[in-house]
Amino acid sequence: MKELVYLSDVVTLELCEESCNGCGMCIKVCPHEVFELSGRKAHIVRRDYCMECGACALNCPQNSIKVNSGVGCAAGIINGILNNTEPSCGCSGSDSNCC
Ligand code: SF4
Ligand code: SF4
Repeated sequence: MKELVYLSDVVTLELCEESCNGCGMCIKVCPHEVFELSGRKAHIVRRDYCMECGACALNCPQNSIKVNSGVGCAAGIINGILNNTEPSCGCSGSDSNCC
């Protein structure tokens, strides 16, 4: 993975490790390897790599993740450029707050 830091110490990402069930979905959908799993819990290990796309929060079955993803569509486009794929924020499209 190419190391890209969004901005230092400004990311709104929050994780409630207490309610996490260790499913690993956030790790699967995060394009920047922000999370790691250990002790059957997700942990934020690269906070400054987060681009606030919102994919982790949208896909967490426990609602354990909060992030201000107001620029989610822009992030999806950037993601597509970086990964040479169709733009996608990782949502199902059924969320009216998303693209
Ligand atoms: S998606 Fe949610 S419940 Fe699953 S590992 Fe990540 S934080 Fe935990
Ligand atoms: S908001 Fe996007 S980049 Fe940030 S941790 Fe979640 S999936 Fe990763």
